[in-house]
Amino acid sequence: MSSIGRSDLLVPSGDVLGDLPVPLEIRPLRTARRLRLRFDEARGVLKLTCPAAMSRRRALAWALDQRDWIDAQLQRAEQPQPFIPGALIPLCGEDVRLVCAADAPRTPKLDGTDLRCGGPEAAFERRIETYLKTLALEIMASDVADYAERAGVRPSGVSVGDAASRWGSCSSDRRIRLSWRLVLAPVAVRRYVAAHEVAHLVHLDHSPAFKRLEATLFGTGLAQAKSELRRVGPRLRLFGRRR
Ligand SMILES: [Zn+2]
Repeated sequence: MSSIGRSDLLVPSGDVLGDLPVPLEIRPLRTARRLRLRFDEARGVLKLTCPAAMSRRRALAWALDQRDWIDAQLQRAEQPQPFIPGALIPLCGEDVRLVCAADAPRTPKLDGTDLRCGGPEAAFERRIETYLKTLALEIMASDVADYAERAGVRPSGVSVGDAASRWGSCSSDRRIRLSWRLVLAPVAVRRYVAAHEVAHLVHLDHSPAFKRLEATLFGTGLAQAKSELRRVGPRLRLFGRRR
């Protein structure tokens, strides 16, 4: 299979060529006529599309010339992201637009890439947040059930919260608690946290045995998911906040 059209080149942040604060993905495209740079807020990476025939070095040099634009995008992404009409949120890593519509039900409903919510606008932010917490619990309880079955264990309960310092926890009485904000993370990142906590149902430590089980449960891409969580984590904490 041809590699053209896939994001197969990743320049890590701090790369000697780049000196960029975030990783840059170079995507050669047969159909691309010109260079195009975009900041993928959900994943915290810059995406550079270039014509297939162009050299990586030339494409990268062009991108580095856009440093002012890049810094402006990153600065914007560090602002609080309140759940207001028109805002984009990365639901399961995919951009979804928040829409306030008079004819929509008061319980938000996903319609393609729009999340539509009716009722008085004053309650809009609260309704969106409640919806996301409910959805997060539904999705993550299913992630946990999936890994727990593979591990041959059963949690005594799964709940969602908003702990400031951690993404998940597992108590000695087998209760798993996860941050609802993970529903705004890329799927692999969210599932990694679930696999990690399920592995704690068997080992309440970070011993080599725990790490082996965590790796078996999650499968390939564990290190990548871990580092992606470190990268997108700070941004996840900005959603639903005004300041
Ligand atoms: Zn742990």
